[in-house]
Amino acid sequence: MTLKRRDFLYLLTASVGAITAGACQASGNNVAQASPSPKSTKVAQTPGPFTLPPLPYEYNALEPHIDARTMQFHHDKHHAAYVKNLNDSVSKYPDLKNVTVENMLKDLSKVPEDIRTTVRNNGGGHLNHSMFWEIMSPKGGGEPTGAIAAAIKQSFGSVDDFKAKFNDAGAKRFGSGWVWLVRNKAGKLEITTTGNQDSPFSDGNYPIMGNDVWEHAYYLKYQNLRADYLKAWWNVVNWAEINKRYEKAIG
Ligand code: MN
Repeated sequence: MTLKRRDFLYLLTASVGAITAGACQASGNNVAQASPSPKSTKVAQTPGPFTLPPLPYEYNALEPHIDARTMQFHHDKHHAAYVKNLNDSVSKYPDLKNVTVENMLKDLSKVPEDIRTTVRNNGGGHLNHSMFWEIMSPKGGGEPTGAIAAAIKQSFGSVDDFKAKFNDAGAKRFGSGWVWLVRNKAGKLEITTTGNQDSPFSDGNYPIMGNDVWEHAYYLKYQNLRADYLKAWWNVVNWAEINKRYEKAIG
């Protein structure tokens, strides 16, 4: 079996993460060889059209705001499971293998009824998390720039007011779900929440940014203090990527 480049990068990321998290004593040479460790073996791709994207940084890159162990479980276990379940669900419908997750979620009525709930939950989980890793960065935080900065100020008065409303909505989302900044059907920016892994796309909204308020996203470090997690999260927000998503939404 030959490794594709993305697999290699993925294994490299996983190995580096394990080492920097203090999970093993490997030397720098081992990192360069990127030999599969038991940890990276567990997150090997499952068969099917949908693939788990590698984290774009190391597990510990978002510390102290999000800890390495949370990132590792969140990406390697939770997100990986959504991808596996999604692949399993579409395996008996070959036509669906050519449909993007986004398009499936935009019109779930076109998804065969026997797998509709599975696609809603796991397709949503896959798409939401694929965005989530990208809109965070170890170089994140600070003030938004570009078109999204102007749009936020116009819609919410100030960035601080926007953050306060976003945090409030996230704190009030009962149970598991997401808090979002979306571009709604009328073309306006709006703060919304969804339950479970439901995607804003299913409501006709474009998700510009979202924060995961499932307990698995914060419980190891913050326990029940979701509000503290919501507040700390702004330190890792990748505004450049969010601006790109906004420009795509309005384009
Ligand atoms: Mn999650």
